[in-house]
Amino acid sequence: RMKDDGKNNYNVFKPNPNSGGIERLTLENSIRKALQLNEFVVYYQPQIDIMTGDIIGTEALVRWNHPTLGLIPPAKFIPIAEETGIIVPLGEWVLKTACLQNQVWREKGLAPMSVSVNLSSRQFSKHDLVETIEEILRETRMDPQYLELEITESMTMNVDVAIEVLGKLKELGIHLCIDDFGTGYSNLYYLKLFSIDRLKIDRSFVRDIMTDSNDADIVATIIAMAYKLGIDAIAEGVETKDQLDFLRSQNCHEVQGFYYHQPLPAEQLEQLLMKSAEIKTNSQR
Ligand code: C2E
Ligand code: MG
Ligand code: MG
Ligand code: MG
Repeated sequence: RMKDDGKNNYNVFKPNPNSGGIERLTLENSIRKALQLNEFVVYYQPQIDIMTGDIIGTEALVRWNHPTLGLIPPAKFIPIAEETGIIVPLGEWVLKTACLQNQVWREKGLAPMSVSVNLSSRQFSKHDLVETIEEILRETRMDPQYLELEITESMTMNVDVAIEVLGKLKELGIHLCIDDFGTGYSNLYYLKLFSIDRLKIDRSFVRDIMTDSNDADIVATIIAMAYKLGIDAIAEGVETKDQLDFLRSQNCHEVQGFYYHQPLPAEQLEQLLMKSAEIKTNSQR
């Protein structure tokens, strides 16, 4: 059963069926130019340890701060960026920005925190992916153990390629997460073989946990299966206390969602981190 989560309704830039080629080209060029003009921004959505309430990591999510259209969400430009391949330099920029930011926070003395960066299938199939990431790690002095790459199930369809590439990424010391888990085809056997560290349960299942017993069963099963395989599970799209309680009752330890925080600009997240560090120091006195 396919679930419509609205990810693909990029109406602002919807290609006109009659002149689609031209509009696509225009958008590709605009993205290229926006990259040069530094119009993209990375937002960070906290990931929370349910038991402690601590922010244990963030997911880096790109937005386009367009001079006239305002803040444009990724659903409106990522699909075309993927189609045209411009996602490759854009994705590298996001990765670099997220690593630099992580390093800045570390140097400011904030508690170590992981950052998860979405990898596009276009990036995944580039022969120089591993070298590119290695280079970014070196340049930004990012500690690889705090970097997680989010891939999707579809990227692992070519098993031999996936084993090779994911193996090399793991050798760099970074972590791997399967995003939107449950929406694609996954061979459970390979989850182990690929050395996946974490599964991110797709928002479409979490959304209906309280109303759809099938979805509740699916979520419970994914959590139990991940546990058996020794893989962490994180639930995304948690919006309500009920959803959180259900996840807790199923022994899911990590969540990401509007119930806690929306994706935030770096400065806002930093304020949040500073405040919670302060509260901790005070309560330890
Ligand atoms: P994703 O990787 O599955 O990211 C999670 C999306 O769910 C984000 O949307 C986030 O804002 C949203 N979300 C989180 N919690 C909640 C919640 O409680 N309720 C609801 N309704 N939504 C929630 P966003 O930022 O609009 O990104 C959409 C998608 O765009 C991402 O889905 C990812 O596939 C893609 N994307 C974003 N940034 C990048 C990037 O740098 N590179 C690539 N390749 N894709 C990206
Ligand atoms: Mg993601
Ligand atoms: Mg995704
Ligand atoms: Mg996701």
